Amino acid sequence: SSISCWSHWKENNGELQLSDWFNPQKRPEVVTVTGWKALVVWEGTNNSTILENYYAKQKITMGLTVFAGGRYIEHYLEEFLVSANRYFMVGHKVMVYIMVDAVSRMLLIELGPLHSFKVFEIKPEKRWQDICMMLDFLFCTDVDQVFQDSFGVETVGHSVAQLQAWWYKADPDEFTYKRRKGSAACIPFGQGDFYYHAAIFGGTPIQVLNITQECFKGILQDEKNDVEAKWHDESHLNKYFLLNKPTKILSPEYCWDYHIGLPSDIKTVKISWQTKEYNLVRNNISL
Ligand code: UDP
Ligand code: MN
Repeated sequence: SSISCWSHWKENNGELQLSDWFNPQKRPEVVTVTGWKALVVWEGTNNSTILENYYAKQKITMGLTVFAGGRYIEHYLEEFLVSANRYFMVGHKVMVYIMVDAVSRMLLIELGPLHSFKVFEIKPEKRWQDICMMLDFLFCTDVDQVFQDSFGVETVGHSVAQLQAWWYKADPDEFTYKRRKGSAACIPFGQGDFYYHAAIFGGTPIQVLNITQECFKGILQDEKNDVEAKWHDESHLNKYFLLNKPTKILSPEYCWDYHIGLPSDIKTVKISWQTKEYNLVRNNISL
């Protein structure tokens, strides 16, 4: 299986070969290749020197979008940005797109020489064309989390999904997928690959646009049919990735919740969840 995985990957990446940088034997205790031959990236399986050199030569530009509205600006944004500056794609050109509900509430913040940011007031859709032209890869993330360690080019791919920390060992029938038949997000029992976390997803900018548009369509359809009162993007993301398999998956090391503890298969935490404080951040009307 590593052979077909290898050839699949080579097709998309020209001269760099999977066997040059990916060594699944380093993590025999976890799943490192899916049934559809996508890599699951775990700490230790990558030769980051080779990868970093390769992408440095390509002069890639990385994008990171994050949305912060209401109290999420004061509560989370600074720590998120400072930590991203320190750990996200260090050595590469990075553009952080910060969506806020009011530009006047944006923090004063300075990033390193290769990291820059643009602030948008939310009406972002028409800017997508620009974003797509400028970037090679893009990640969309929640703001209520903090980078803890290097989040590098081993994570990039055409379509990238994140394993949700609480569910990576569970059986698909236990997942909190939307099960209700009339919902666009419905995944019946007996189906499903993984439970993906909506707090991080990525890919090429065009692909990310496609993911968000398809999920949004599903959300609107459910609203119209009154299937789902609550905005629940993660169910739609999971449905999307069931139908359109991600080409790369990030292990829960990339978005870990320390409330779980630290099992032995979590070697290096790249991003950690902030404690949920809905009572503090969500009880206002600014969104
Ligand atoms: N968000 C925001 N303001 C809000 C609610 C949500 O900026 O009032 C953004 C923020 O980026 C947040 C993301 O939407 O991280 C998802 O919301 P949250 O993290 O509260 O959801 P959870 O991770 O608990 O599912
Ligand atoms: Mn969150």
